[in-house]
Amino acid sequence: MPDILKGPAIVIAGRDLGESDRLVTLYTSARGKVKGIAKGAKRSRRRFVNALEPFTLVELTLVSHRSAGLARIDAAEILESFPLLPGAVATYGMACLSCELVDMWTREGDSQEKVFRLLLWCLRSLQESRYSQRTALVFKTKLLALAGYAPEWERCISCKRAPVGAHVTFRPHDGGFLCTACYPEKGNNAVGLGCLRTLGHIQKRSLQELQRLAMAPQVLGEAWHLMRRLHCHYLDATPASYGVLRGLCMDAPP
Ligand SMILES: [Zn+2]
Repeated sequence: MPDILKGPAIVIAGRDLGESDRLVTLYTSARGKVKGIAKGAKRSRRRFVNALEPFTLVELTLVSHRSAGLARIDAAEILESFPLLPGAVATYGMACLSCELVDMWTREGDSQEKVFRLLLWCLRSLQESRYSQRTALVFKTKLLALAGYAPEWERCISCKRAPVGAHVTFRPHDGGFLCTACYPEKGNNAVGLGCLRTLGHIQKRSLQELQRLAMAPQVLGEAWHLMRRLHCHYLDATPASYGVLRGLCMDAPP
């Protein structure tokens, strides 16, 4: 008996397979990350009519057989596409990063509906808002928490007190920070209190509450770099999209 999966899915990656097929990675609401072969997708684009382009929300029909290898994409009907994303390069870069992070953080068949909803929120917000870096920052902060690596933003990991002064020292290995009383030096891992509070706020609040989140450019820059460091540290890899963003001057080296 074949196993048939039907339901909404977001295309997060794809590559050509041989002369005519395409291997597509999707994040589904029901079953998390799945991969499937779209037979003839390269030769006849008509069959899937752009449905297998990245960042597209589709109604997917995926068929797999226990004995066979990769599953087959039988149908993919577009539910929602994000046409502005490829047009605006910075926004496109942020969407690439978001999908790449979901791909790197998740395993096939490990379902997390919240990841699906977060990615969909991110793509919709990127499409609608001018603040693509802010949207991607919220996305990265929420995704890290869903991956089980939510840092402690409010209290020092040593003395357990709330931070005072202008900065703290972040310790990715320990999932938190040392306050200036416990670590007075200001080294490379120093993080301003504004950045700390902003990331704590993002982690706690719902996506709806964060829709109007405002932050100073300096705080955004600092929070962006800290989040990149944390993701790269826990993944033990750097998403290739950061190279694209750097080329667009959206991700200056720290
Ligand atoms: Zn302390």
